[in-house]
Amino acid sequence: MTTNKTGKQNWGMVVDVDKCTGCQACVLACQSENNVPINTQERFERGRAISWIRVERYWEGNYPDVKARFIPIMCQHCENAPCEPVCPVYATYHNSEGLNVQVYNRCVGTRYCANGCPFTVRFFNYWEPVWPESFRNHLNPDVTVRSRGIMEKCSFCVQRIRRGVRTAKKENRDLIDGEIQTACSQACPTSALVFGDLNDNNSAVSKMKHDERTYKLLPHLNLDQNVVYLAKVDPEKKIESHSVESGSHD
Ligand code: SF4
Repeated sequence: MTTNKTGKQNWGMVVDVDKCTGCQACVLACQSENNVPINTQERFERGRAISWIRVERYWEGNYPDVKARFIPIMCQHCENAPCEPVCPVYATYHNSEGLNVQVYNRCVGTRYCANGCPFTVRFFNYWEPVWPESFRNHLNPDVTVRSRGIMEKCSFCVQRIRRGVRTAKKENRDLIDGEIQTACSQACPTSALVFGDLNDNNSAVSKMKHDERTYKLLPHLNLDQNVVYLAKVDPEKKIESHSVESGSHD
């Protein structure tokens, strides 16, 4: 399966909620890949969370028939992103590859974008990041270390995308589906996260996107996200009704 090397990709992700076990390997992989600062409990309790992907846990049913459910949430890379028009300095914009881009050295820290995002996936650097001495050589040299006053969020590991595209061009070949992985999709032990090119009809994400379990978060907002979810399968109900009711099948 190949995609066009002329740069016409539309990157997207499919999250199969039925496969997610809530292990949080994706969260750790993202943190180490993208030099996400280490938080403290005290800051977290003051509402200053910082994590590009989170796994939300919720409970379904009544005791004793209670089931733990997990849903990974990251930037949804919306085509109609509410964070973009509110930025006064164009630090966030949508590019031609389906990515919602954050330009760190343009950001002046108004945080309008964080207020505009209904998924709460944008994070503000309230403090200068500090890593233990033993971690210093573990920082990813391909990713900027953001300083205080900067807004940040999931980039779909754009550094990996750029490296993959450069390698394919250098070898004068098309990109191979699955060749470019985000840190979270690579780390997920159950393959609940699948990343790829939505413009390639033969890619895994394109095929999964048309599964009958497909839905998008908050579809009534018409944000046209590039992240789609596959609903949890309940053996008794076949597909969980809450997911399908909130879903769109485009
Ligand atoms: S790594 Fe995979 S299974 Fe684990 S929490 Fe993340 S999405 Fe779920």
